[in-house]
Amino acid sequence: MADYDFDLFVIGAGSGGVRAARLASLSGAKVAVAEEYRVGGTCVIRGCVPKKFMVYASEVSTQLKTAQGYGWTIGDHVFDWPTFLQAKDVEIARLSGIYVSNLQKAGAHLLHGKARLIDAHTVEVLPKEGSPDAGRYTAAKILIATGGRPVKPDFPGAELGITSDEAFHLPTLPKRVLVVGGGYIAVEFAGIFNGLGVETTLLYRGANILRGFDDDVRSHLAEELEKRGIKVVLGCSHARIEQTESGLVSTLSNDLRFETDAVMFATGREPYVDGLGLDKAGVALNDKGAIAVDRHSKTSVDSIWAVGDVTDRINLTPVAIREGAAFAQTEFYDNPTSFDHELVASAVFSQPPVGVVGMSEAEARHAFGKVDIYRSVFRAMKVTFYGGQERCLIKLVVKQDDQKVVGVHVVGPDSPEIIQMAAIAVKMGVTKAQWDSTCAVHPTLAEELVTLKEKYAPVDVGAG
Ligand SMILES: Cc1cc2nc3c(=O)[nH]c(=O)nc-3n(C[C@H](O)[C@H](O)[C@H](O)COP(=O)(O)OP(=O)(O)OC[C@H]3O[C@@H](n4cnc5c(N)ncnc54)[C@H](O)[C@@H]3O)c2cc1C
Repeated sequence: MADYDFDLFVIGAGSGGVRAARLASLSGAKVAVAEEYRVGGTCVIRGCVPKKFMVYASEVSTQLKTAQGYGWTIGDHVFDWPTFLQAKDVEIARLSGIYVSNLQKAGAHLLHGKARLIDAHTVEVLPKEGSPDAGRYTAAKILIATGGRPVKPDFPGAELGITSDEAFHLPTLPKRVLVVGGGYIAVEFAGIFNGLGVETTLLYRGANILRGFDDDVRSHLAEELEKRGIKVVLGCSHARIEQTESGLVSTLSNDLRFETDAVMFATGREPYVDGLGLDKAGVALNDKGAIAVDRHSKTSVDSIWAVGDVTDRINLTPVAIREGAAFAQTEFYDNPTSFDHELVASAVFSQPPVGVVGMSEAEARHAFGKVDIYRSVFRAMKVTFYGGQERCLIKLVVKQDDQKVVGVHVVGPDSPEIIQMAAIAVKMGVTKAQWDSTCAVHPTLAEELVTLKEKYAPVDVGAG
């Protein structure tokens, strides 16, 4: 066997790369990890974690209103964006530091700089200010874990808009914002801005937000967002944006014009493969522009693997972590493992949040033809107490022939926490009868899940 500098060279110190590097290193392998920006990747630096802090900050406004309904007198209160940003940045730096020290404790060599492939066993780390790590390194195995990055649409003035990357560092909180997009990042940021007191419009070109989610979830959430004060504009896209003295004027495809202080695009993300030298090593992309991999995350090149968002399978942190772990198990622990991408639960941290595992009603009807639907739309007791109008949605999709629960959809407070537990049962293949045999925990919102007795659509409407 050739003599290489490293047994494994990982490109990208994000969710997938760090997990793979640490596990491989702990097996005794000599591992290097190159990172061009900050250790921790999208999730820690400009994704899940800072986003959740922003959601927490933003939700306080609803909690203050609720408090008044429960008899509290709330004095003057103001939100100070710079104070929040500073605290957020301190915490993110702390978390990034933990990632660095965990890599070091495992024995991995951290290299700072952008890495690119030279051939199937050679990586070049480009010079980076303050880093002595530039140079060429050889490795028996290479793992690409470079993640994704936001894409802005292409129309006149689009460069005046920001993406989620910049939203985490806005020098001042805008008074008016237009969030463009209908996916989870768009609805989450619309909720964040709205909760922080920003006049918020959500613009999406499709028929409804959250494409790919259950239709009831989509329409329910759109209504709830509007109840909370977000203006949801559907079926319409941008024609152009112009900077004026007082703000950014967006002209829409229907000629509607309105002015905001910021426009944030959450219009999609793409695998980050620019300048990676994939062609030099012969790594093939699939038709979506992501690195093509097999079930063990191996690319078209025998010595190169790829995990996480750069492979565009399910673009979530826990998935990238599990793909990275499966790669390390297979290649460094002699334990062939592949991550099972079926029934991965997910959450949208909108306000109210969404938790989902399994199929939408439409997907289940398409796959199985006959399904039973159980559904409940209700006001939680916390809200009814003070006369609030926010409603929760709970929906179960059950395959009719074997009565397996194939989809659980929750919109309402704590739904991300609830769905994590429901996912265990669904992953184990729970039937509706077993589900119902679980006694309720009272008084909770989640108890509605095990008390859904009446079919919502008892008449079968057929497949499709
Ligand atoms: C706003 C936002 C909110 C999100 N919220 C959630 C959430 O709530 N829950 C959830 O599960 N997921 C969430 N995600 C998705 C999640 O962040 C990603 O799925 C996850 O980070 C992917 O991990 P990864 O290892 O594939 O890549 P990343 O974590 O993106 O890491 C890739 C790393 O590679 C580095 N890199 C790239 N190219 C090179 C190169 N050539 N050389 C050296 N280094 C390089 C990058 O700088 C980066 O640090 C969110 C994403 C965004 C953008």
